[in-house]
Amino acid sequence: MVDPAAARQGRTGAVTVAAYNTITVTRLAPCTHCADEGPIRLQFAYGDTWQHNYALGDSIRWGGNDYGQRNEHAEILAYPERCLVCAFDTPGEYVLTVDQDRLTAYRLARSEDVVRLEAEEG
Ligand SMILES: [Zn+2]
Repeated sequence: MVDPAAARQGRTGAVTVAAYNTITVTRLAPCTHCADEGPIRLQFAYGDTWQHNYALGDSIRWGGNDYGQRNEHAEILAYPERCLVCAFDTPGEYVLTVDQDRLTAYRLARSEDVVRLEAEEG
């Protein structure tokens, strides 16, 4: 959905900061092109946004190019990168859950999540 090069330049509207982080997770919806169900990378902007690559359970870093409100509990929209198998542009969004700065959960975003979380981000 988000071309990384375009995202870095703020042209897509999906990621408007100069940098972002990624988290590698197992995809929750198979690729609509090749049916892959393996890992996928999600882009998100929260904490020190400097292309850190996280895994579930990692702690968010702060104290650099910080983005977002640091709260005890936060939900963050994340945007899938292209399929790692076939490079198909992955549609949809994910929601990341952060508790006490730790990435604790992720799920597919519903349309109401996208509306609510994009509004929170301003
Ligand atoms: Zn694929």
